[in-house]
Amino acid sequence: MAELGMQPCPWHLPAWSALVNQPRHAHAYLFSGLPGIGKRDFAAAFAAWLLCEQPQQGQACGQCRSCLLRQAGSHPDMLLLEPEEEGKAIRVDAVRQLVGFIAQTAQQGGRKVIILQPAEAMNQNAANALLKSLEEPTRDTYLLLVSDQPSRLLPTIRSRCLVQALPTPSRDQALQWLAGQLPELSGQQHDALLQMAAGAPLRALALQGLEAAVLREKVVEGVKELLKGQVSASQLTDRWSSVPLELLVDWFCSWTLDLLKLHTQALDQPENSDMDKVLGYMAQRIQPLALGQWQQWLLEHRGMILGKANLNRALFIEAMLIQWKQLLERR
Ligand SMILES: [Zn+2]
Repeated sequence: MAELGMQPCPWHLPAWSALVNQPRHAHAYLFSGLPGIGKRDFAAAFAAWLLCEQPQQGQACGQCRSCLLRQAGSHPDMLLLEPEEEGKAIRVDAVRQLVGFIAQTAQQGGRKVIILQPAEAMNQNAANALLKSLEEPTRDTYLLLVSDQPSRLLPTIRSRCLVQALPTPSRDQALQWLAGQLPELSGQQHDALLQMAAGAPLRALALQGLEAAVLREKVVEGVKELLKGQVSASQLTDRWSSVPLELLVDWFCSWTLDLLKLHTQALDQPENSDMDKVLGYMAQRIQPLALGQWQQWLLEHRGMILGKANLNRALFIEAMLIQWKQLLERR
């Protein structure tokens, strides 16, 4: 198997060949797209290509001195800036490190490359420090920003980068890739993982690592018991303490979308097949106004969760479950 970080995902190959075949390259790129589609691999492969002394067939060779240094994680002309902990901010100290790196001469005598991800994790001071570097680009220095949420970046940063939106693969492409990564699972399991990941294959792979299918079964079971009055919202909140909040809110969003489509008869059957009975039952007994308000509340909170806002987990889940149940009781 190819070394990670040297090759873009197969569905990004058209974007890749367009990029490496450009006669000249910009000093700053912003790779954007949905989470879990391989933007990070794309940026890493591009960094490898930029640093390689003798790229072959449009990819880093993996054998030159520069490639060997990079694979060992000790290339002096490559800098990777990420939050110290996932979900935390990239602070101004890190960006100062970047400014120092830009100022120094390339030690291998070639190019210098910086990968900064996720770019929206920069706090205000960090973003301002970065802006200064973007305003005065240095020869042979390339800055690669990666972002799920480019709209959260300063417009002045966005406008100084060449924005490359990376596509989400088709369902078939994604399933084929997942089958190669997880040959021990059945086609049905690949399908279920991909659905949970909203079509993003690398996210689906990560979900498998989290045993998301097991968690999902637990959550679906709990929702059924809640609607039957066999369990309370606060009991479920305790029971679901190991379920990542991002997953939980995504599932409720997806079920809500099914409810809306069933209610307006845009769908006959819910797309979430493990919830078909529950959603079918709810769709017939729901008030459109309540559904609209609920969806708005849910999307607002999803935005807060994805934006890493400080949210009281237990209070949020309990409030969510109470409202979910009330969708039925308001009649
Ligand atoms: Zn090389």
